[in-house]
Order: sequence, then C-alpha cells, then structure tokens
Amino acid sequence: MTARILDGRAIARQITDEISAEVRAYLAAGRPQPMLAVVRLGQEPSSVRYARQIEKVFLGAGMGFRLEALPETATNDELLRVLVDLGTDQTVHGILLQLPLPPQISRDLVVDSIIPAKDVDGITALNQGHLFAGRGHYYAPATPLGGIELLRRSAIGIAGKHAVVVGRSEIVGRPLALLLLRENATVTICHSRTPELASYTRQADILAVAVGRAGLITGDMVAQGAVVVDFGVNVIDGRLLGDVDFDSVAAVAGAITPVPGGTGPMTNAMLLANTLAAARFQEASR
Ligand code: NDP
Repeated sequence: MTARILDGRAIARQITDEISAEVRAYLAAGRPQPMLAVVRLGQEPSSVRYARQIEKVFLGAGMGFRLEALPETATNDELLRVLVDLGTDQTVHGILLQLPLPPQISRDLVVDSIIPAKDVDGITALNQGHLFAGRGHYYAPATPLGGIELLRRSAIGIAGKHAVVVGRSEIVGRPLALLLLRENATVTICHSRTPELASYTRQADILAVAVGRAGLITGDMVAQGAVVVDFGVNVIDGRLLGDVDFDSVAAVAGAITPVPGGTGPMTNAMLLANTLAAARFQEASR
C-alpha cells in the first residue's frame, strides 16, 4: 500500500485565501485591521525565522503584524510591562509570546499575564482550562488545532476512531489529545516513560506524533491503513525530518503528513484564524 499524502501546504493556502477574503470584507465593513503582536526575547535564529514567517503570512492575508523584540537579558518586570501594554492596546487583537523563555523569566507569571481574549496560541491557564473542560469561549494552541483541521479538510473522520498521541507537551501533545477527545475519538497518550511504545502505536487508527526525535516511528510500528500525522521538526545534517520515518511508514499507512509541508504550514493558518476570531470577539464586546 502507498499512503495518501495529506498536503498541509495546499490546505493551509486554501485556508489563508478564505481568511484573506474574510479580512477584506471585515475591513470593508469599517472594522479595524486584525493585528497580531509577537513578543520575543533574544535573537535565537529559529525564533527569528519563525517570527518573519508569521509576519509574511499575516501581511499576505491583509492582517497587521507587530514585533516586540526584547533583549535576551530582559527582566520579568520588563516583559510583564510589554505584555500588559499589549493587553490594553485596542489596536492589538492577538499576542504570541515566543517560547522557550530565558532562565531568568518566570514562565507561569508572564504567560498568565497575557489577556486570555488575546491569547491566540492558547497558552494561558484560562484557555487551557476551557479546553480541558470542553466549554466556554477559548483559543486552542495553533499547532494541534492545525492537525485537527488538516484531518477535517482531508475528510478523515475522527469520531469513534482510536487516536494514539505520542508526546504530552503543553503546546502540542496534551492539547492535541484534548482536541481529539472533543472530536469524539478514543484517545491514548504515550510519552517517554511508556514501555513498548509500538504495542500502542500499532493499535492506532489515527497516530499523531509530537516528540522531536527524527524517525522514531517506523513502518513496523504502524497498522495497515492508519492515518499518520507527524508534528516533528528535526534538522539533521541540514535536512528537515519528521518524527516519522516517512518511507517505511508510507508503505503501510493509509494517509500520512509529509515533513516539511504537513502540519507545519497549518500552524500559521490556525494562527490567522484564531487572530481574526479574537478581533471579531473583542470588537463585538466593546
Ligand atoms: P517537547 O520536548 O516539549 O515534548 C516531547 C514529548 O515527547 C514529551 O512529552 C516526551 O515525553 C515525549 N517523548 C520523548 N521521547 C520519547 C520517546 N522515545 N517515546 C515516546 N515519547 C517520547 O516537544 P514539543 O511538544 O514542543 O515538540 C514536539 C515536536 O513537534 C518537536 O519536533 C517540535 O519541533 C515540533 N513542533 C512542531 C510544530 C509545528 O508547527 N508542526 C510546532 C511546535 C513543535 P515526556 O513528557 O515523558 O518527557
């Protein structure tokens, strides 16, 4: 069997086109331009690259983008002041704090100073709590949300399926498991202390992997016809590789996301969608 390729790049382009049209109509109705502010400490090259990529995507969709670049040595108070100012600035609708943060910063303190209504990557405790409880108005983290949307737009049903998630981080694995549960999958979560990982992954109708280890999942660990969603981003000898060994898994899976071009582009598309939704919500509540 040769797996169907789930083309995240094409689906993300389609979503971006739809959002661009929505933004045009929104602006034509006299509403203010939806604006994302990215906050970064330091100049770590992959974070700088990611912020540039987001800027391009947002400007391309007719939305606003602002970068608050603080020095690597910024203090808790300096960062808090920036986040609080962005929270009260009515021209800013979304705030994305780039992680990880340097060691002098108290993550919990600064993360939860982001106004939940502007927390478009769903990292505050309030948004996480809403996702956990499955109720209220909230923003889910863009990366796992992108994985769900990729499946939805590929007409892959989730309800009633056994979804196995490998990885339990706060930004990908754990929220992904909750989103799959919200879609009525039966969910198993695996992590670094799971013995006999393959005995779980082989049971998956949908196997989602967010670990950060190139080629961790091989063809013998996957059931015939399973849907495999790879969130891994690993740079090995200058090549971008997923957590899934693409060739051996594509030979048994029914569908698979490539790396690059799978879940990655979907993250930015979901950030656009969450920021537009946040702008609408904030403008409607003024
Ligand atoms: P983390 O390092 O925060 O979490 C990794 C998770 O994998 C942990 O839960 C860990 O378990 C688990 N794990 C580690 N080794 C194993 C193993 N051998 N078997 C099973 N589980 C294991 O990573 P992130 O969640 O932040 O990122 C995961 C991957 O996704 C990375 O490659 C990252 O670059 C990528 N990523 C992709 C994005 C996208 O847009 N596509 C966005 C964000 C991240 P434990 O909890 O026990 O330590």
